[in-house]
Amino acid sequence: MKSKSIILTGDRPTGKLHLGHYVGSLAARVALQKEHTQFVMIADAQALTDNADNPQKIRENILEVALDYLAVGIDPHQTTIFIQSLVTAIPELTMYFLNLVTWNRLKHNPTVKLEIQQKGYGEEVPAGFMIYPVNQAADITIFKANFVPVGDDQIPVIEQTVELVRKFNRTYKTDVLVEPKALIASIARLPGTDGKAKMSKSLGNAIFLSDTADEVMKKVKMMYTDPGHLRVEDPGKVEGNPVFTHLDAFGTDKAKIEELKEHYRRGGLGDSIVKKYLLEVLQTFLEPIRKRREELAKDPKHVMDILFKGTEAANRAAHQTLIEIRQAMGIDYFR
Ligand code: ATP
Ligand code: MG
Repeated sequence: MKSKSIILTGDRPTGKLHLGHYVGSLAARVALQKEHTQFVMIADAQALTDNADNPQKIRENILEVALDYLAVGIDPHQTTIFIQSLVTAIPELTMYFLNLVTWNRLKHNPTVKLEIQQKGYGEEVPAGFMIYPVNQAADITIFKANFVPVGDDQIPVIEQTVELVRKFNRTYKTDVLVEPKALIASIARLPGTDGKAKMSKSLGNAIFLSDTADEVMKKVKMMYTDPGHLRVEDPGKVEGNPVFTHLDAFGTDKAKIEELKEHYRRGGLGDSIVKKYLLEVLQTFLEPIRKRREELAKDPKHVMDILFKGTEAANRAAHQTLIEIRQAMGIDYFR
């Protein structure tokens, strides 16, 4: 990575953030903010693409997501945190990008295909939802981001962004737009507590960063393990076992985790013992986040003020790129 790269990521304010967000993206944001120029976006416009009938939900979750950011250590002095819908250069660039992508290409984005299926849309998918990858390409490129720390479910969306950047630069014979790269963490996708491949807000299988100690305990107790591991003596599977994936992601004592894995594979190690250790690990990780979040939640006005200032700064940066874009396209009429 270059010494001063530009980084952009975001989250949909459809609910509070969970351990999957931490692993896939938040951890990298906290680590990268010191050395790089970072923008973090609360993607309310994108969230509305599949929640048009419930703007109240989106509104409420803007504060919740901001609290999660600050609680995990995203520092507003180092990172520009902003609200997507207030940066109007983004929908403008989205409109120009839409002319550079075919309907057929949109229909074949694997992430979107899977989500349409999960949401049960069939043919009745909102057009706004179909084009969200184009909107996301505009989010990324309006800030000239070089890197996007995301979970691996987002790889096809970044690929589509790269295609759009190339097409734009080729069509308008310019190099104004920058090709971004996905930054994927070593655990590219945290599974849900139900064993599904992805922990997700909308799948009801998440441990939230803001869950109480009691909620975390209940969720860990219920967590899916290896279904073939029926009796304690049976050899168990570690790969694809969410309890071990969570240990890999959040445990600090790697030697102890290796030992547990060995023992589990051999047989003779009960799920309840591994879960007890996982609970300890998760409580240690979550306790300080939970405390900071509670503190911050006492002053929502302060948090909203951070978003207001961040949005102003984001607007300045985005507007600058928009001027260059209009110049490159030759639609800077009053120059
Ligand atoms: P929704 O269900 O509303 O789509 P979500 O839980 O999928 O919510 P997003 O806001 O869509 O969350 O995702 C924000 C970011 O977090 C993306 O970069 C995504 O890749 C990452 N992310 C979300 N869930 C996981 C996960 N289980 N493992 C790794 N990364 C994840
Ligand atoms: Mg998602």
